[in-house]
Order: sequence, then C-alpha cells, then structure tokens
Amino acid sequence: MFYESTRGKAAPATSAEAIKMGIAPDGGLFVPDRPVKISREQLAEMAGRSYRHLARDILQLYLTDFSAEEIVTCVTPAYGADRFADPAVAPVRPLDRGRGLHVLELFHGPTCAFKDFALQILPHLLTRAMVKTGENKEIAILVATSGDTGKAALEGFKDVPGTRIIVFYPAEGVSEIQKLQMVTQEGGNVHVIGVRGNFDHAQNGVKEIFGNRALNEEIGRAGCRFSSANSINWGRLLPQIVYYFFAYLDLLAKGELAAGEEINFVVPTGNFGNILAAFYARRMGLPVHRLVLAANRNNVLTDFIRTGIYDRNRPFYKTISPSMDILISSNLERLLFELTGRDGTKITAWMEELKAKGRYRVDAATHAKIREIFWSDAAGDTETMAAVRHTYQQYGYLIDPHTAVGMHVYERYREATGDRRKTIVASTASPFKFNQSVVQAVWGPEAVRGKSEFALLEFLAQKTGLSIPPGLRDLNKKPVRHTLAVEPADMAGTVRKILSR
Ligand SMILES: *Cc1c(COP(=O)(O)O)cnc(C)c1O
Repeated sequence: MFYESTRGKAAPATSAEAIKMGIAPDGGLFVPDRPVKISREQLAEMAGRSYRHLARDILQLYLTDFSAEEIVTCVTPAYGADRFADPAVAPVRPLDRGRGLHVLELFHGPTCAFKDFALQILPHLLTRAMVKTGENKEIAILVATSGDTGKAALEGFKDVPGTRIIVFYPAEGVSEIQKLQMVTQEGGNVHVIGVRGNFDHAQNGVKEIFGNRALNEEIGRAGCRFSSANSINWGRLLPQIVYYFFAYLDLLAKGELAAGEEINFVVPTGNFGNILAAFYARRMGLPVHRLVLAANRNNVLTDFIRTGIYDRNRPFYKTISPSMDILISSNLERLLFELTGRDGTKITAWMEELKAKGRYRVDAATHAKIREIFWSDAAGDTETMAAVRHTYQQYGYLIDPHTAVGMHVYERYREATGDRRKTIVASTASPFKFNQSVVQAVWGPEAVRGKSEFALLEFLAQKTGLSIPPGLRDLNKKPVRHTLAVEPADMAGTVRKILSR
C-alpha cells in the first residue's frame, strides 16, 4: 500500500515516508491509496481480542511496509499497563441498557484525554520510520498547544532516543492543571516554553518555523530535522481507528450486539481527527449506521454538514470545552478526498477558496454522501453544563464538558430522528481534568468558589469515590522545571538556541 496526497500532486509514499513527512509536499494530507476491508467473518474472529492484539492487527493492514515484529515493538510499550490505568485500555461502560447507550472511555492514558492513544504510539512509529527510510538526523518535534496536545506529546516523546520535543503554550491561555502538567514535565529531551500571547500566536510561530528555510538548513547542519506531532500526521490518525473496532467488538463479545448489528457513534469534535478515524472504521466494514458529530458553540462543522457550506467567517468563542474551540478543521480535507472519488483537483480548489475567502461550498453529490453518513448538532455552554448534571443525576456517572457536548447531541439525535439503534458516545477526557465546570454543573457555583483546581480534585474524589488519576495527583507538589516565557517574535530564535546546543 502507498499513501497519496489529497491535493493529488505528490509522489506516492510508503507509510514510513508519510509518517516521517507528516504533511505531503504539495500541502495536502496523506491518505491510503486503496480501501482496506474487513469481512464479517474476520470481524467475528477478532471479538474478545486484547487492545494490544487488535492494535497490531489493524495497524498491520495500513503499515504494509512495517514487519509484524516492528509493529509489535511499537504497540507493546504504547498501550502497556504502566501507560493506561485501566486494564481494558479503552473500557466501554453501559449507561442505559434499555436505550442501548454506552460510553467509550478514552481517558485512562497518562494525560487523561484521548490524545494519548495516538501520542503514546506516534514516537515509536516515527523513530521506526526514520530508521526504515535511512534518515540519520535527530527529529525535533515542534508543538503549539491549546492545552491537551502539548502534554500528551511530551509524555509520548520524553526520553525517546533520537528525538527532542519543544512545546509552545499560550502563557495565560491554559488551565491551572494543564499548565502544571506541562511545566513539571520530566525528561532529558523536553522543552516547554510559554508564549506571551494566545494560541494563534503560538500556532503561527510554529508554522513560521516550519517554513523558515534558513533555520531549517541551519538545524539540518546541526544534525536535526523538524517534524510535527499534530493530527494531520497519518501516524496520529491511524491508531485512533483501533478503538472504534475495540468498542464494537467488546459489545459483540459480551453478547450486547448481534453479529452485524449496526450501531451509532457520537464523537465530540474539533479538528475532525477523532471522528475521521470513526469514518475509516466504518469504511473498513465496521457495522456503523450514523456518525453523530457533536460540536460546541464553535459550530462550523454542524453548519457544514447541514448546508454543504464551510464558512469560518464567524466569531470565535471560548467555551468550557476548550479542546473543541477551533474553526479550521484540517482533517476534513481527508473526508472530502474520499467522498469525491479521490478528486485532488476539486480538493485543491476548495482549500484555496478556504484560504482566500474563508469559505467554500461542496457540490450536491458530495453533500448528499456526507449527509448519508453524518448527522450533527451543537451544544452551548449552558446545555453542556446541563448534560453534565443530568448524566450524573440519572446514571450516577460523571462526564467532562467535552463528553457532555456529545451527550447533549446524542439526546438531540434521538429526538430528531427517532433512531433507536445502540449508540456509543466517545468520552474524550476525564472529568477530573476539567473539574471546575464539572463541580459547578453538579454541585453548584458555591462548591467551586475560592477553591483551586487541586482542591477540586479532592472534592471530586470524595464525592464520587473515584480515585484521582495518577497523572493529575500531586501535580502541585512536583518541582516546576520549565519557566521560560518568550514573545511570539522570539520563538524561532529560541528554537535555534535550543537545537544548536
Ligand atoms: C482534542 C480534543 C477533542 C477534539 O478532537 P478532534 O480530533 O480535534 O476532533 C475533543 N475532546 C478533547 C478532550 C480533546 O482533547
């Protein structure tokens, strides 16, 4: 199998090359050049497999230039018991058997959000890919983060031989817990730097560094090469396909589903990465009826699915589900490529319109295909808070605000369509990680007044009987190791200094 670019103008690449490059040379995203199919018989055989076993099977179908042994050496450390706190890795919890409602818990990794599933394995895939392609430079991973990705990438890349990682976060734009998660990061190859500005400043700064030829050549002479750990890299998307299969097969093995029975997935969405992985799982033959896309007040994707018009010309809102505050969903490009019959010319034109005017409209046939597979609605902050509260009152089950956006949209979907198929809501973060909104939603504003996020961790543990996740416990007692803060204009100079040492 080879990987081709969604813009249609790049030479086919092996999976190792695609993972190493991250983005295709023509500015597009790499996608597999042929569909991968799993038959009903194969699916039945896979039921009951461990997460690691299933990950091996599915990765092998796409990473055809990797040997079985190479894949094992990537999968085994990534999903080990020392990394994921739940023995199932991605446990499926029944919430309401009568309605067939289940939650897929994707937050048992070291940083308590689903990004660990990709970022625990990406460093292994990337370092293998380097060896396979004869690359002998050290990889310097640059990350701009609004909170969750930075910490997940740091945990994934810390002390991985042949790599260094530099994370830029908005100095005043992340939560207390998110900041401490990053500035207390251990590891000999990690750098965490505050940017005096917002996320856009950090993101633009990183983009400029990637495009800075002089700097690229200079660090090349010092034996380094930049790479990216964000979700445009196929190596970040592929591992996420696994847990959709795992969830379905778990219910199948427990007898909750009949062979071939169709279900729905509800996915809280920002950059369209997580739900795109669900789309690939469906394409492979997983019996999925609808993919329900849940958005917050930044509902550019909900409008797109309803109208076929993508329009980012709208206000940007800061919400209580901050990891979904995004107006340019870069992975949508892959979906459009697949649904237009791999029409790179069309995709190029739409993406150029998006860049120039902030808006494009897909043709009627493509829009019809999108509507056949996807359904979408959005939740404002008030509705999100209500969903946290109702879910706790009704089921005694605590969810974070991102998952709550999904739960709200699940209810809307049932109301609007009358569809009674069994449904799995993807839970993307631990309620402990976004504890302020969670405590306020369930116990009222009085309960949070005057309390730090650390006091709230204790409060939540006491109220629910759950234990504080290991990654968040004692964070305020760990030494701060990273104190550097820079102006956006000094980001490139800082990277130069770090890498020339
Ligand atoms: C990143 C993130 C999302 C959005 O995922 P996408 O792949 O960008 O759609 C949702 N919830 C949480 C907690 C996240 O960290």
